Amino acid sequence: MKTQNYLKYDIVVIGGGPAGISAAIYAARAGRKVVVIEKYAPGGQLNLIGEVENYAGFKKISGAELAQNFEEHARSLGVIFVMDEVASVAKSNNEFVVKTNSSAYKALSLILAGGCHSRELGIEGEQKFKGRGVSYCALCDGNFFKGKTVAVVGSGDSAFSDADYLASICKKVFVLTKAKLKLHNYAENELDNKDNVTMLRDALSTRILGQDKLEKLEYVQNGQRKTIDVDGVFVAIGRSPDTALLKDFVQLSDGGYVKSNDKMETSVAGVFVCGDVRDGSIRQIATAVGDGAIAGTNANKYVLLKKFKG
Ligand SMILES: Cc1cc2nc3c(=O)[nH]c(=O)nc-3n(C[C@H](O)[C@H](O)[C@H](O)COP(=O)(O)OP(=O)(O)OC[C@H]3O[C@@H](n4cnc5c(N)ncnc54)[C@H](O)[C@@H]3O)c2cc1C
Repeated sequence: MKTQNYLKYDIVVIGGGPAGISAAIYAARAGRKVVVIEKYAPGGQLNLIGEVENYAGFKKISGAELAQNFEEHARSLGVIFVMDEVASVAKSNNEFVVKTNSSAYKALSLILAGGCHSRELGIEGEQKFKGRGVSYCALCDGNFFKGKTVAVVGSGDSAFSDADYLASICKKVFVLTKAKLKLHNYAENELDNKDNVTMLRDALSTRILGQDKLEKLEYVQNGQRKTIDVDGVFVAIGRSPDTALLKDFVQLSDGGYVKSNDKMETSVAGVFVCGDVRDGSIRQIATAVGDGAIAGTNANKYVLLKKFKG
């Protein structure tokens, strides 16, 4: 029988966004051996942001540059980054076992920092044209649709600000919102001043159509099925936490976010949470970093107690 070799660390951090990296920085500076396991790119959602203008200390910085700064800072303190996807987590005696597709890790403490991902519409054509006309990030992909006609699907502030941005570079922007009435908030009011924006209210998107390339968006409005000719569809219907692998491991909220107290302790002793994946987070870089500082500090205390008291 093949024996499993475990890579041993004091702390395994799942997710290398601002929260996970901040936690790793605090734990590493306290002398802990820390690995951050990240499935896409260090910096997490920072890599999707054009310009950040609300993170203290930087009047304006590109998301990509901030991501690089975070990673370099952590590496300079000895934090190890592994590019892999965590597939399972479990507790075994006094340790936590984390498995990825290629390796297995053991640690005295775990920090959950898996963040969030964009929600999908779940309609016909969405998967077919994902990345080829369907986008979840106006700031990242808007430029590909310069001078073209696009639709934004969503009913909240992020959909309206995406539409506002796209209107500045696209020929025409349709906004399909489920709301029947105008919300009269700042983001939606801004769209009133744009000649190239058409609001389609009480509109439910039903299919994304096209042969080789995306051509039309079908929707239902007032009981009638209609289509608009578009080159791209931007989906902005909120974000979901990445917690499928945690559902039988720690306590989650109804929305799937990880529950914690103000020490970032979860329902399992030794497991801490930080950032967008935490129930109650306002999902910003600053809050992710703040959560990470608390989680990293308390994970360090937990590990020291385990090492010296057992
Ligand atoms: C388009 C856009 C614009 C934004 N603009 C701003 C802004 O201007 N100001 C601001 O403050 N905030 C902004 N935000 C929000 C901000 O980026 C997030 O609040 C912040 O990145 C959260 O950090 P996090 O570390 O909690 O999560 P994330 O940044 O989501 O990082 C989590 C990481 O965990 C990884 N991961 C998840 N599951 C696994 C797994 N099983 N195995 C391995 N790795 C895993 C993911 O790949 C991801 O990299 C914006 C977000 C977006 C999408």
